[in-house]
Amino acid sequence: MPSFEPVIGLEVHAELETLSKMFCGCQVVDLTISEPNSSVCEICTGMPGTLPVINKRAVEYAVRVALALNCKIAEVSVFARKNYFYPDLPKGFQISQYELPLARNGHMAITLGEQTKDVRIRQVHLEEDTGKLAHHPGYSLVDFNRSGVPLLEIVSEPDLHSLDEVRTYAMELRSLLRYLEVNSGDMEKGVMRFEANISMRPTGSKDLGTRTEIKNLNSFKSMIRALSFEIERQSKLLSQGEEVLQETVGWDEKLSTTFSQRGKEEAHDYRYFPEPDLPPLHIESSWIEEIKSGLPELPNARRNRFVNDYELTPYTAGVLTADRTTADFYEEVLSAGKHASPQHIANWLSGDLFSLLNENNLSIDEIEIAPASVADLISRIENGEISANSGNVVLGEMFKSNKSPSAIIDDLGLGQISDPVEINSIVTQVLEENPQQREQYLKGKKN
Ligand code: ADP
Ligand code: MG
Ligand code: ZN
Repeated sequence: MPSFEPVIGLEVHAELETLSKMFCGCQVVDLTISEPNSSVCEICTGMPGTLPVINKRAVEYAVRVALALNCKIAEVSVFARKNYFYPDLPKGFQISQYELPLARNGHMAITLGEQTKDVRIRQVHLEEDTGKLAHHPGYSLVDFNRSGVPLLEIVSEPDLHSLDEVRTYAMELRSLLRYLEVNSGDMEKGVMRFEANISMRPTGSKDLGTRTEIKNLNSFKSMIRALSFEIERQSKLLSQGEEVLQETVGWDEKLSTTFSQRGKEEAHDYRYFPEPDLPPLHIESSWIEEIKSGLPELPNARRNRFVNDYELTPYTAGVLTADRTTADFYEEVLSAGKHASPQHIANWLSGDLFSLLNENNLSIDEIEIAPASVADLISRIENGEISANSGNVVLGEMFKSNKSPSAIIDDLGLGQISDPVEINSIVTQVLEENPQQREQYLKGKKN
């Protein structure tokens, strides 16, 4: 039986965390806590005679992402109307960039164990989100708070060839968006969604097989599960000499299967045409330069620097730099702790501190412990004042009381005596005070 290799390309939708929506002044609100339809106006609900205006901040955020993905940014890009009917789309069309997207031809390096791999980015473009439907038995409700929220679509080339590569790409992309402060990465809130295109081909072949497109994947987990289902299904068809049909499929989480939504014949004709109410988007190169100079150090660069400067393993450096606040915290502990070693601090953060955060369901920016106190604690472990186990207890107390390490060590009497002369005199004293036990021990009673 010939073996097959998956060929996967992702379309990632990320909401941009701007204050207002893409084409109107309505506030972008958290759907999970806001009164439905409380942040809507005549523009984002598509009333006749209203005119959209491009949100400059959304363009800036999109340029940030495009630059971080090494894309070529178009001097002129064009918004188009993508026409279709659906109850969550009051205008009857979605404004999206189509023929002339904001940026093209980028790439992102992802880290797989000790290896890195470049994933080509086909394009990055701007569009607007739709409303959100909630289905109930016998009726459905619609919330337009999400209508018109700026949405960035990032389309990769079909360069991913395993589930591990897909997971890594998606997670590193999420981390990048968080570093750039354009998206919170809060998957439960639906701010990042995926569509996965997958085909199989005989291992070693360079041809592209017929693909299916899996729509509306809202978590890493369901994306991986759906793809693994498709890998099985398509491999089985191909090895039996049958064909894979080009179609759009959905993922049923409960039944753990993909199901056909529409075939090639029923593919939508969206009748795209340039949005007549918006001028072409011109982006000045001086503005691009300005945005570029304001970019933070990106996760890959930071990870490499951690490996080179602090001699961390690529794995540990990856763990510490996946999240910007964690990496900042690490470097603050490092600069506060004059004695503690970078590796020791890294182990403490990624071990003891991370498990405390997990237990308490907190993220590092939600705790009050000062980096200097952590540095102080680690130095006390390094110089033998307390044991590593006691250090863990002290850290737990710091979480609860926010007292200083020295105060906690005193309170709990955790100080350990490491001076050999002092220990020797205590041992001698104990032996002298217990002559009977001493005799018995010398006669062989070792328990
Ligand atoms: P569409 O316009 O129908 O969405 P595109 O050609 O723009 O299709 O591709 C969309 C996504 O599908 C891209 O991420 C691309 O990498 C991926 N893709 C294209 N062809 C294949 C294929 N044969 N197998 C797997 N993925 C593919
Ligand atoms: Mg598509
Ligand atoms: Zn509005």
